[in-house]
Amino acid sequence: MLIDNHGRNINYLRFAVTDRCNLRCFYCMPEDGLNWLSRKELMSYEEMLHTCSLLVKMGIQKIRITGGEPFVRKDIMTLLTSISQLDGLQDLSITTNGVLTAPYVPELKKIGIRSVNLSLDTLDANRFFTITRRDEFANVMAALEALLHHDIEVKINAVVMDGKNTQDIIPLVEMTKDLPVSVRFIEEMPFNGDGHIYTGLQWDYVRILDEIKNKYPQIQKLTDAAYSTSYNYQIPGHKGTIGIIAAYSRTFCGTCNRIRITPQGELKTCLYDDGGLNIKDLIRNGASDDELRSVLLDAFGNRAADGWEAEKSRVVHPGLHESMASIGG
Ligand code: SAM
Ligand code: SF4
Repeated sequence: MLIDNHGRNINYLRFAVTDRCNLRCFYCMPEDGLNWLSRKELMSYEEMLHTCSLLVKMGIQKIRITGGEPFVRKDIMTLLTSISQLDGLQDLSITTNGVLTAPYVPELKKIGIRSVNLSLDTLDANRFFTITRRDEFANVMAALEALLHHDIEVKINAVVMDGKNTQDIIPLVEMTKDLPVSVRFIEEMPFNGDGHIYTGLQWDYVRILDEIKNKYPQIQKLTDAAYSTSYNYQIPGHKGTIGIIAAYSRTFCGTCNRIRITPQGELKTCLYDDGGLNIKDLIRNGASDDELRSVLLDAFGNRAADGWEAEKSRVVHPGLHESMASIGG
């Protein structure tokens, strides 16, 4: 078991396999994209697999592949298939925007993916275009249909943004009436790749819940699973559930079980820290597994107590101007 310096179990890795994306969600990156990493700067599949294998041996039980958009990286199924075969890994999942996902769904099912997080901030095609700057709504809906058809658990991630999609909160909640999906509302964070000024959080988890309660006073609180980052609810009679993630308010740090690896191989032991330990560079410089294990354990033993402390101690990238696509959401 991996235990950090605050007694928290670390068993969950989120691996961002690329910073590139086929959407341009305004809360994540500027319209003309990011200064994309070159192929050489990216971790190779071999390096990723090596890192995952080592971390699984050390105690990681769950891996989520994210990005950028995982499905824009060439031959992504090769990596997913190899990771799915790691001995000791209990759960492999993906976060995707859904644009290219539908054709892969049967293969995802075949390699044992049980759950996919699908990002969808609105059910209105025009607003989808305004938010993502791309006309891909129909493809995302096709991905949703394919995932449900193949009995893969779907969690819908919706970032709540003042003046942009708060009118979508109730329609998204209403999806849970007939569909067995978990719709999770996420507080907007300042990780927008410096594309615009973050004006501070207007819709925190309390306001999001109030909005839902206003329409559905009968909403019931569910028991949250261990390590859950969401407060979970259900409207009686609905097939699906609702989650609210206080990503900016950072109410869940006390039980945080997750670490991240960025597309260029940086370890982040908190979403709000600025990395520092580059695993890819260590591998390329010939570090042995014992050496890697030792620096990883050192990093796990020096985790910030919470996202506020991590934010304060940023040195390499002061300020929170990175894009979620280069961190790995
Ligand atoms: N491209 C994939 C997708 O959109 O699902 C995976 C990567 S994306 C960075 C992962 C998650 O981060 C998405 O659900 C997205 O909505 C969320 N995200 C991106 N920028 C965010 C921000 N500034 N605040 C809150 N969530 C954000
Ligand atoms: Fe791309 Fe996901 Fe960022 Fe949107 S949130 S721009 S889909 S990486």
